[in-house]
Amino acid sequence: MFHKERCDIEPFESKVWLSSPTMHGEELKYMTEAYRTNWMSTVGENINEIERMVCHKIGCKYAVALSSGTASLHLAMKLAGEAIYGSTELGKGALNGHKVFCSDMTFDATVNPVIYEGGIPVFIDTEYDTWNMDPKALETAFDIYPDVKMIVLVHLYGTPAKMDEIKTIADRHGAIIVEDAAESFGATYKEKQTGTFGHYNCISFNGNKIITGSSGGMFLTDCLDDANKVRKWSTQSRENAAWYQHEELGYNYRMSNVIAGVVRGQLPYLEQHIVQKRTIYERYKEGLKDLPVSMNPYDEENSVPNFWLSCLLIDKDAMCRQVRSENEALSIGESGKSCPTEILDAIAGINAEGRPIWKPMHMQPIYRMNPFVVRDGNGRARTNAYIDGECLDVGMDIFNRGLCLPSDNKMTEQQQDRIIEVIKRCFD
Ligand SMILES: *Cc1c(COP(=O)(O)O)cnc(C)c1O
Repeated sequence: MFHKERCDIEPFESKVWLSSPTMHGEELKYMTEAYRTNWMSTVGENINEIERMVCHKIGCKYAVALSSGTASLHLAMKLAGEAIYGSTELGKGALNGHKVFCSDMTFDATVNPVIYEGGIPVFIDTEYDTWNMDPKALETAFDIYPDVKMIVLVHLYGTPAKMDEIKTIADRHGAIIVEDAAESFGATYKEKQTGTFGHYNCISFNGNKIITGSSGGMFLTDCLDDANKVRKWSTQSRENAAWYQHEELGYNYRMSNVIAGVVRGQLPYLEQHIVQKRTIYERYKEGLKDLPVSMNPYDEENSVPNFWLSCLLIDKDAMCRQVRSENEALSIGESGKSCPTEILDAIAGINAEGRPIWKPMHMQPIYRMNPFVVRDGNGRARTNAYIDGECLDVGMDIFNRGLCLPSDNKMTEQQQDRIIEVIKRCFD
C-alpha cells in the first residue's frame, strides 16, 4: 500500500485523534460538588445550571438535559408524531407507519429514532454546497409523497444546512422539522444558533462532540408544554401522586447531575473550542491548496459553522481506484492521484485518526429498502458503482471521494503540518 515515498515521516508518539474530549479543570470541581453534597442522581444544581446556560447561549426558552442526543431525538420524534397524528396507542409508536423525510448523509442516530416510533424514513439526497439535505430533492420528495408532514434534518460536521430554503418548503407543505444539531452546537445561520430552527431541537454532549459531558444530550424548545412533556417522559412518566402513578409510557432518559457537572465545566469553553477547530480547518485549507482537493464547504455569506470536523473532497479527475466492500477497502495507487482509502491508510500509518465520510443511510444494509429521493426523481442506487463515470447520487459521490481529517483541538501546528505533508505525498 505504501508505494509512495513517505516512509521517512515519523509516526506520532501519542495518537492524534479525530475529535476527543478536552477537559479544563472546572468539570472536576462541579462533579466533586455533586459528590460532596450527595446530589448524585438526576436532580441537582448542575442540571438546573446547564439548562439555564444552554438556553442563554442558544436563545431558546426551555432546555431539558437528557442522557444522550439520541434520547433527545427519540422524544422529539414522539412529540412530533403526537402533534401530527394524535396521541400514541400503546405498542404502536407515534409515527405508526407514516413516512418521514430524513437527511441521508448523516450518523444513524439521526434516523433510528424514527423507527423507534414506528415511522418509515424516506431519505433525501445531499447537496454539494453544504453537504446537507438538498432542498431541490426535498421538493421532489413532496411531489412524490405529498402527505408527508415531518422532516428530520442534520447540520453535518457542524455546517448549517440551507435553512431558509428548507423552511420555506416545509411551511408550504405544513411539515414539522426536527433539527439534529448534535454536531453543530454553537454554529449559526444568519446569526441565529442551530438548534432553534426546528419545532423540536436536539444537541449532544457525546465524547467526540465540540464540548462533552462524556455523554448526554439536550432537548431545546420555546414551548413550555413540550419541555414539560419531555421532562416527564424522560423520568418514567410519573404522575403527580404519592405512589408511582402512570398514565403514559415512560423512559429513563434524564441526565445525571454528575454528567451535568462535566457539561457545566465545559460550556464556558465552547467558543474557545470553535476557534481552535476553525484554526485547524483554515490551516488544512491553506496547506492543501495546491492539491486537487477541496475542504468541506459552507455558505460563507449566511452561515458560520462550528468547524467540528475538517473534511476533504478529492477532485473527480484526481481519484485513483478504490474498492469498498461492506467492511473492507482497497486502493490502487496511481501517480498524481489518490483516494480516501489511500489517504486514511497513510494517516493511520503515522498514528493519527481520520475517518471515511459518514456512509449515507440509503447505502446502509439496514435502510437499503427504504425510499431514497434524488433531485431528478425517485432513484434507488444499490451499489457503489459509477455508471459511465458518473456517480448515481450526491451522497454516494461525497462518500466515495471524501474523508474526515484528524480535527482534535489539542493537535499542535507541528502535528498538523506532518499530516498535511503525508496527504501531499499521497498525490506524488
Ligand atoms: C452524535 C450524534 C447523535 C447522537 O448523539 P448521542 O449523544 O451520541 O446519542 C445524533 N446525530 C448526530 C448527527 C450525531 O453526530
